[in-house]
Amino acid sequence: MTTPASSHPDVEQRREDRRAIVETVRQFVENEVVPVAPELERQDAYPIELIEQMADLGLFGITIGEEWGGAGLDLGTYAEVTVELVRGWIAMSAVLNTHLMTSFLIESFGTDDQRERYLSRLASGEIRAAFVMSEPHAGTDVQRIRTTAKVDGDDYVINGQKMWVTNGLYSGLVAVLLKTDPTTTPPYKGMSVFLVEKEGGRSEFPGMTIGPPIQKLGYKGIETVEIAFDDYRISDAQLLGGDAGLGMGFRYCMAGIEHGRITQTARAVGLMTAALEASVKYADERETFGKKIGEHQAIQTKLALMATNLRASRLLMQSAAEAKEEKGRADMEAGMAKMFSTEAAVDATRMAMQVHGGYGYTKEFPVERLYRDAIALTAGEGSNEIQQQIVARQLMREQAAAVRS
Ligand SMILES: Cc1cc2nc3c(=O)[nH]c(=O)nc-3n(C[C@H](O)[C@H](O)[C@H](O)COP(=O)(O)OP(=O)(O)OC[C@H]3O[C@@H](n4cnc5c(N)ncnc54)[C@H](O)[C@@H]3O)c2cc1C
Repeated sequence: MTTPASSHPDVEQRREDRRAIVETVRQFVENEVVPVAPELERQDAYPIELIEQMADLGLFGITIGEEWGGAGLDLGTYAEVTVELVRGWIAMSAVLNTHLMTSFLIESFGTDDQRERYLSRLASGEIRAAFVMSEPHAGTDVQRIRTTAKVDGDDYVINGQKMWVTNGLYSGLVAVLLKTDPTTTPPYKGMSVFLVEKEGGRSEFPGMTIGPPIQKLGYKGIETVEIAFDDYRISDAQLLGGDAGLGMGFRYCMAGIEHGRITQTARAVGLMTAALEASVKYADERETFGKKIGEHQAIQTKLALMATNLRASRLLMQSAAEAKEEKGRADMEAGMAKMFSTEAAVDATRMAMQVHGGYGYTKEFPVERLYRDAIALTAGEGSNEIQQQIVARQLMREQAAAVRS
């Protein structure tokens, strides 16, 4: 008799490992993050002590290979960990997301020298990484970026401005998408990624200036900044992938950003989990017209919708993570998951405020913060309008392939 795949010892072991790490992170969030998050968020304070604890837990290396000192865990486990972190405060995931995207790019496409120089330090959290494609005039339309890297001897010289760099000040390394050949058609074929070193949390380097944190509605605690390059000189050893990486930057970033879309989904699940927990608790405590508000049908409808969309989002998250692990690219699965879950998170956190009545609008309860944080998810990692196009285009491609065969 053969052992069913789902109960194979390796599969069981992986499930056990996942349960153990998720439980550890849940305890960390419950004990360390939940008590301090409201005040840190109010102050928009960089949570350095919590970040150091995350490093001690090994979270900065969670998906980086074991040979580099990481945990080498799968995306599904990382997504479950993100859910727990965001249940406490989205900043805990904001410091991790672009760090792991950049680590993924280096591990997947970097030269041996780049892997040697960075991956162990990234896995330990000794340096944290950021990732940027956006510019002031080009977010969705990445192919319109204008910042250039021009060859000059063994170096490149960078000029232009990047925008929305999350972790842009305190990170030690930023993966930056740049135009290395502005003449190519289509433009994406003339783009490359450079690994810009900027250790020390300073805002001024020769040829590079990091702007003050952008003031945001939510997504606080972790800085989002502009970076201006003015004849910034960088060695060609910093071109991701070396010569093979020239002109490959856009494709590398698209592979990396699917990570980000799965993270956005996990964040949405985390926010919805927190919103639902707070709402069920409040609905069980608050009374009007002689009964708990959870016994009014209008409130029950909200709780049921929140719980159902939460479950659907979690399933989409797991299926997108599995597809990315199995196929390398998973545009459609990640796009569907990101689009559905982030819209559901905005709805759920808005409903959670309504369940809390007037108190939902105050800082006394966490739900107004969850709502502000949920809105950030609909634009980042590719807006939801663009996810719709990605999904529809993939459907049309599959239809065309079916007709041809
Ligand atoms: C908190 C936060 C953190 C961020 N962190 C990072 C980061 O670390 N690195 C990074 O590179 N970027 C980051 N971003 C930038 C983010 O990726 C962009 O904001 C996003 O890609 C949208 O770009 P945009 O803001 O320029 O909007 P635009 O591209 O100007 O779009 C404006 C609106 O038009 C819609 N739209 C655009 N084109 C189309 C179309 N073809 N069809 C239909 N609708 C369309 C969009 O969906 C949107 O609703 C961050 C953004 C935020 C808010």
